[in-house]
Amino acid sequence: MAARRDFTRESLAAGVRAGEKRALARAITLVENSDPLAYDLVRDVYPETGRAYAVGITGPPGVGKSTLISELVRHVRERGTTVGVISVDPSSPFSHGLAEATLQALLVLDAAGKELVFLETVGAGQGEVEVIGIADTVVLVLMPGSGDSIQALKAGIMEIPDVIAINKQDHPAAKTMQKEVRSILSLDKERAWRPPIVLTEATRGENVPELWEKIEAHRAFLDGEGLLEQRRRENLAGEVFAVASARAKAHLERAVAGDPELRRLLDEVQSRELDPLSAVREIMDKVFHLGDGNHRPDTH
Ligand code: GDP
Repeated sequence: MAARRDFTRESLAAGVRAGEKRALARAITLVENSDPLAYDLVRDVYPETGRAYAVGITGPPGVGKSTLISELVRHVRERGTTVGVISVDPSSPFSHGLAEATLQALLVLDAAGKELVFLETVGAGQGEVEVIGIADTVVLVLMPGSGDSIQALKAGIMEIPDVIAINKQDHPAAKTMQKEVRSILSLDKERAWRPPIVLTEATRGENVPELWEKIEAHRAFLDGEGLLEQRRRENLAGEVFAVASARAKAHLERAVAGDPELRRLLDEVQSRELDPLSAVREIMDKVFHLGDGNHRPDTH
């Protein structure tokens, strides 16, 4: 291993606060490795966070999210804004969950003084909701021909995003797509914020300033209505539950895998000797030491 003057908890926090490149790079590596020092760092700097604006970029693979983010980053940097980007690959083996790693990375960049942070998932869209759940503004990127997302929007499977970019506007079906999305959104008349739709061509930077304007307009809307604080409260509470649930699930899976008696319960369910809900009760009792009354559903 290369000789390295490593950071202490204090020097790391100080370096991150000062926005030092080397400290920031180290902090991100610690987050990726779920190093205990990353947890200490987040604990130390958390009271100073909440200044960065987080923009989540979501959408199916291949629609142009990363190309669009590069262009957005270039655009906002030209205007003097400091930017960080968090790309999360759901298939990468974080020993802690995606939500946990993303949250830590966001807080570290925030503490380092980044005014704006983009959050994106790379690769297949699994775990997307976890990653962008903390975003202040969510941008859904679609491209002409990606009918699945339109269907998901229509069916209400996908939450309505704050801004929609239809990328690859050089594609002949772009305008048709725009009309389709517009008609889906028009079904929902109750919303105070109507998600704007922007046609972009990321590879040429086309309409990227317009897309940025819409993101800023959403931010201004949240600010003006006093909704930003409310959204952040909800997002943070959501993160706490998401991380706690992910940890509880991992704990449960490990406990069952490591305990022959608990594994036997699963076998008994499969052979119809024990009903699934009784198995759940026994597993919960043993793993989480829950009293009997705590997990019976109300039956009236
Ligand atoms: P991601 O998977 O959503 O991050 O998509 P990428 O940014 O990796 O882009 C996928 C492919 O689409 C790449 O080959 C890009 O060069 C291409 N691409 C991105 N934006 C555009 C666009 O506006 N028009 C066209 N024709 N291709 C684009």
